[in-house]
Amino acid sequence: MEPYRIGIVGCGGRMGRMNLATIAAAEGCVIGGGTDRPDSPVIGSDLGLLAGGEALGLTVGDDPVELFAAVDAVIDFTTPAACRRHAELAAQAEVVYVVGTTGLAEADQAAIDQAAIQTVVIQAANMSLGVNLLQAVTEQVARALDADYDIEVVEMHHRHKVDAPSGTALMLGEAAAEGRGVALNDVACRARDGQVGARPRGEIGFATLRGGDVAGEHSVIFAAEGERIVLTHKASSREVFAQGAVKAALWGRDKPSGLYSMRDVLGL
Ligand code: NAD
Repeated sequence: MEPYRIGIVGCGGRMGRMNLATIAAAEGCVIGGGTDRPDSPVIGSDLGLLAGGEALGLTVGDDPVELFAAVDAVIDFTTPAACRRHAELAAQAEVVYVVGTTGLAEADQAAIDQAAIQTVVIQAANMSLGVNLLQAVTEQVARALDADYDIEVVEMHHRHKVDAPSGTALMLGEAAAEGRGVALNDVACRARDGQVGARPRGEIGFATLRGGDVAGEHSVIFAAEGERIVLTHKASSREVFAQGAVKAALWGRDKPSGLYSMRDVLGL
């Protein structure tokens, strides 16, 4: 049987490199190619060396059309604008498309939803098993408690992260809103500054911390008079996200087209 070829877009990035290394070490798949933006310093580098292993004789390109035509699946941890283009190419080439990119605007998400009509798309703002479990638990706890419990989502990431609150924080906020039977957009407070007044009952608040090399930490707090429940996940390495992404790419192999989440992949 032909090896299952996984391509990486944005392969010079923090997650891109981790994804390459994870594919190289995984059973049942090989690195099928990689791209980055045309002015990236990694263009022309050997993908095997970028993965931290032996040279493969495959180099980083800047043409995503060529990449999508040459692989069975593509993993995307890039930028919202790049992601929109990649979603169109995934649909045309009918390859399994795994999207981890966050900070997507409505139009970017629409391109992904559109692609899922024609091909298998697996999308998650967080690919780790732990966070996907936390999402399920958050929904359950929010369902069990009423609005006497104020819900706050706190996150911290490394200093290079460009979107806030993190996609994972929003995903946890969505889970809390779902459990409480409300729409997140109606109750979310994404940042506070100045004379904002007392906290409205039922609000779901977010707080964002940035600094150092933190791979990702999230807490969902349920605070009432007299007690507080704090659910926390800490990622100490990006490896957990890459392992989830590669698992998703392999899982998508024989699935009908559609939009799937990591909860589908993990059977949660
Ligand atoms: P990064 O900046 O280190 O990497 C992004 C890479 O994409 C860079 O190499 C950049 O040059 C490349 N890129 C930009 N435009 C491109 C284009 N048009 N074509 C090809 N490549 C292009 O960022 P990162 O820390 O690796 O994070 C990337 C994204 O993944 C962010 O949105 C982040 O929030 C998200 N993320 C998601 C998860 C998850 O589990 N879902 C985990 C970590 C990070």
